Amino acid sequence: MRQFRQRITIVAIIIVFLFTSCSKKRVDPQSQSFLMLGTVCRITIYDTPTDAAFRAAFARIKEIEEHMSLHLSTSEIARVNSAAGKEAVAVSSDTFLVVKKALEIARLSSGAFDPTVGVLVQAWGIGGDSPRRPDDEEIARLLGLVGWQRVVLDEEQETIFLADEGMVLDLGAIAKGYAADEAARLLVEHGVRSAIVNLGGNVLTVGRKVDGSLWKIGIQDPESERGAYALIVELDDTSLVTSGPYERFFVLEGETYHHILDTTTGYPVENELISASIITKSSFLADALSTTLFALGPQRGLALVEGLDGVEAIMFTADGRIIASSGAPPITITDERYHR
Ligand code: ADP
Ligand code: MG
Repeated sequence: MRQFRQRITIVAIIIVFLFTSCSKKRVDPQSQSFLMLGTVCRITIYDTPTDAAFRAAFARIKEIEEHMSLHLSTSEIARVNSAAGKEAVAVSSDTFLVVKKALEIARLSSGAFDPTVGVLVQAWGIGGDSPRRPDDEEIARLLGLVGWQRVVLDEEQETIFLADEGMVLDLGAIAKGYAADEAARLLVEHGVRSAIVNLGGNVLTVGRKVDGSLWKIGIQDPESERGAYALIVELDDTSLVTSGPYERFFVLEGETYHHILDTTTGYPVENELISASIITKSSFLADALSTTLFALGPQRGLALVEGLDGVEAIMFTADGRIIASSGAPPITITDERYHR
């Protein structure tokens, strides 16, 4: 009996040894990047990188781009836009869902976020090769074509109709977030438990780091070149998305014009903010709300976020202040130019 117990103990020790030595064997993280959705899309898998997981995630991002890009004349959104004022267009469930959610955010923000801002985005040439400053008359005329209430959805048929000719849907402030959620869903379906999906700064963390600790994610210093961080937050299974004027802008006769437009004036948003980040589970919501937060400014933006469950905000003002919502995770400021 005693010998038997001894043997059991030895076997148990060997099993424990094998188990710990296996778990210590580190898998190197692997990254893949592609240019999609007008930006660098990068996925890093930390636990069990497989080609199938990468392939599925990137194929899904590509599919979303093909459905929703304003810049592809064959996309569903392009077809909806060219049928504006004429007829309803049947779209995929994907596009229907994203437009429906975009309209919910438009309602929530009283139109500060508005996916029909596309006509103005195009007039300013934002993100294109030849940006310009439309004159006041043109802006006034185009403002008449901005109005989320004039997007007509048919839930049964999954069709979208823009009521007036010339209206333009633009999902640029929301599609990357949706693509990040979908990419992460496919990674998880392929057995991935630890990964980061980064679609041009639209960050979604899957699980935790392989050692079980939280991810440390930096928020871009709005006043420095790309890659310099001003603060760090620790997160798991969460998305962090930042909107800011430094993301895309152009300079004309000494004036800087950036890419988030005020839907009441037709001009780039002007307020104290130089960066607005949202932290929440869904990257889709984080993307839409970070643009919304920036457009609303610190007071109205914070009021909106405080009223939403599981949504937190971190903002930078032009005078170096960092404003965080009441439930935001602890923040480590890494640049002394900024303070709470
Ligand atoms: P980025 O795409 O640079 O990460 P955002 O998510 O903030 O930044 O989206 C900005 C894009 O959203 C603009 O380039 C434009 O296409 C569109 N947009 C601009 N102003 C608004 C607005 N008020 N509401 C909704 N979408 C907007
Ligand atoms: Mg956005």
